[in-house]
Amino acid sequence: MKNKGLLIVFSGPSGAGKDTILKKLLEKDPNIRLSVSATTRLPRKGEVHGTDYFFVDKNEFVRMTQQDEMIESAEYCGNFYGTPRKPIDNWLANGDDVILEIEVQGGSQIKNKCPDSISIFILPPSFTELEQRLKNRKTESEEAVQKRLAAARNEILEAVHYDYAVINDTVDHAVDEIIHIICAEKHKVKRD
Ligand code: 5GP
Repeated sequence: MKNKGLLIVFSGPSGAGKDTILKKLLEKDPNIRLSVSATTRLPRKGEVHGTDYFFVDKNEFVRMTQQDEMIESAEYCGNFYGTPRKPIDNWLANGDDVILEIEVQGGSQIKNKCPDSISIFILPPSFTELEQRLKNRKTESEEAVQKRLAAARNEILEAVHYDYAVINDTVDHAVDEIIHIICAEKHKVKRD
């Protein structure tokens, strides 16, 4: 019988570089599946429904949570985000490793519901660097950037609740560290 896959929670403040790290990680390890979340946030330029997110309205989001279609959900900076349960269950049962790129409230829900999951927190090299990255990417209004920076200050405090913390000093270095973490976790003797 195949071993169940590893469920990996991946969090970090907006602007820490999670998307860039994940893109490289998935190139290096094509056996990892990346969950596609549902959100009520409007699509950014270039984002594709079903690839980046399932963009839904608030009624649909509420329906999905009420019908227990999400494994976790949270409100972040005025928008709702949640992880559809079905693909995760199928991938894990099939032996695939699955990454959930989610914020800290969702991360804590997953830790409670899935004690076998592991959690990795991505930290920027400094707060100044984070601010610079958020401003440079120009995907948000100045008001939204300020909201995300305020949220980041609280989120970083939550890093202590994660199993691992990785500093995104360079993307390649961070990706290598994450590959080592996943490898070590898969060799753990005590794992169901
Ligand atoms: P963004 O709007 O920049 O795409 O995402 C904002 C935050 O929401 C990020 O920290 C991202 O990791 C988080 N996020 C994305 N999808 C989910 C989800 O399904 N659940 C939760 N709890 N957070 C999510």
